[in-house]
Amino acid sequence: MRLLLVEDDDMIAETVLESLRRTGYAVDWAQDGRAAELSLSNGVYDLVLLDLGLPKRDGIDVLNAYRRAGGDAPVMILTARDAVDDRIRGLDAGADDYLMKPFDLDELAARVRALLRRRTGQKHPVYTHGELTLDPAAHEAMKDGVALNLVPREFALLQALIEEPTRVFRRAELEEKLYGWGEEVGSNTIEVHVHSLRRKIGAEQVVTVRGVGYRLKRPG
Ligand code: CA
Repeated sequence: MRLLLVEDDDMIAETVLESLRRTGYAVDWAQDGRAAELSLSNGVYDLVLLDLGLPKRDGIDVLNAYRRAGGDAPVMILTARDAVDDRIRGLDAGADDYLMKPFDLDELAARVRALLRRRTGQKHPVYTHGELTLDPAAHEAMKDGVALNLVPREFALLQALIEEPTRVFRRAELEEKLYGWGEEVGSNTIEVHVHSLRRKIGAEQVVTVRGVGYRLKRPG
């Protein structure tokens, strides 16, 4: 899961980054409106956390431009408690949710999960596919009811696959979902994660589509 945090306050940003990364999301950080627009133009994000009062370009303008350009990732705006007008403008500009500062990190995490779920049309908080289940809130994956001991990248990989279980993911797409800026990604990194995931969930569960990428086994 690849997230973009747009926030000019270092203290807030570092706290949020640390918390979300610990959960296993790849998170990039844009510190002003211009950097946010540049980042959003590459279209890799599953979710955007957007502060509104930003240097160089206002958050509402960033959001308007993003939606006009067809950007469809869910956007959660981060606003000051008394800024009712900002929240209304944000929602009208195409934001999906908002959170008032200062916010609780557990609430942030829960809202992030809810938005990510809605994005794939999933209403139930636990994903099920064949023998596999994945619970993002509990950070727990199971096969036939037995807990799998997945490290964060394996969990993130399985989550990407199970969210869109019929889709074939190209290796580059999985890299984008699992890694943020400045993280070293070797040429065979995704193969290594697929290999270790297969060892834990069963080799047959992840199908290699030759010349394209990977998808989950069809259930049944
Ligand atoms: Ca700000």
